[in-house]
Amino acid sequence: MTWTKRYLYPGDVEEGYYFDIGTYVCKNHFKDDYLNEHIVKQGEKGICTYCDKKLIVIELEVVLTLIAVGLEYVYDDPANGRFLNKDSEYGFDGNVQPFEEIWWDDPFDLRIEDDKLLEDVSNQLSTDQLYCERNEFGSHEEYLDDLWNHFKEVLKHKARFSFHFSETFRQWNSSDPADILHQVETTILKHNMITTLKPKTILYRARQHSVENEVSDATRIASLPNSLNKEAGRMNAAGISLFYCSKQKNLTIKEVVSKRRKSKPYYTTAIFRNKKALRLVDLTKLPDAPSIFDEDNNHSIDVIFFMNSFVAEVSLPVLKKDSVLEYLPTQVITEYIRYNPDLNADGMIYNSAKDSNAKNIVLFYNHKDSLENLDFSKSSIKTSLIRDL
Ligand SMILES: [Zn+2]
Repeated sequence: MTWTKRYLYPGDVEEGYYFDIGTYVCKNHFKDDYLNEHIVKQGEKGICTYCDKKLIVIELEVVLTLIAVGLEYVYDDPANGRFLNKDSEYGFDGNVQPFEEIWWDDPFDLRIEDDKLLEDVSNQLSTDQLYCERNEFGSHEEYLDDLWNHFKEVLKHKARFSFHFSETFRQWNSSDPADILHQVETTILKHNMITTLKPKTILYRARQHSVENEVSDATRIASLPNSLNKEAGRMNAAGISLFYCSKQKNLTIKEVVSKRRKSKPYYTTAIFRNKKALRLVDLTKLPDAPSIFDEDNNHSIDVIFFMNSFVAEVSLPVLKKDSVLEYLPTQVITEYIRYNPDLNADGMIYNSAKDSNAKNIVLFYNHKDSLENLDFSKSSIKTSLIRDL
């Protein structure tokens, strides 16, 4: 049987998959949200061949096509991806299996319980071709995780300023750090992860300090002057100052103030307002990873996994015990977003680690930029004792 696209060549009369069964199926037989949502969205009222109920049903051929997309995403033809090895069972290196063997393990965890449906699906999909996993040397999830770890490893221990020599730092699975950064840009634009911050939005800043009247004007609570900025953050290296703020006063206090720093018993909050509308990359809008059955989007699964790791790390608190090396990867991505002319961003929105429903804002403003581009409300300065919190 030749349902697969694999052996189609340019000029072949028909493109696509060849299934022919003529039955209808409802959403109650596959344990997969994407398949079931597709049945409901694209199907019509009718009788399900398998449970005999009147529900929204779709031709089984449609579902088979989606499963075929998933098979092509996860598996390769060993003729493309493996060296020949005449001593091995199927003539190729690595773990090569016929279709029956991979399908027997229910590789997509579909848990089809209806015997007739299982038989129909298996018979239709069955081919005499050979399969090998594209990411044979680890599960797909391990591979995705590996993308982030590889990026971190290169930055922390190999190259800080020249990782764009892609051939040098390319990994066996062919992802190189510079290419991943490019995919970050593509993902942000494709999923419209850009939000406009209206002019005059109230932005709270907070600072913890030791002397009661220390914060008396904007210069003492704007972004730190570069010369004083000796500590690295998850988004900025030491010496590079950014304006961390939020729209909620309580959140800003929670993010900044620590009761454990006894030498600084006071905290001050103040309000700044942006003069112009600002373009912010909104990391909280990162979509869920697409399904492997989603032909138009499954190629972006890996970069969305990668960005999830970035988004999660950006929100983590800065800890004294952390090595500054830990922050390099998030700093590099932040800098890439900051200076990328196609994104043209003034800052980013990201989840708070202190309150999972709340959002923090970082503006790409150093001390001077923050004083020039933001209006300061002197009357908003409010200093309190931390022990009263
Ligand atoms: Zn049914």
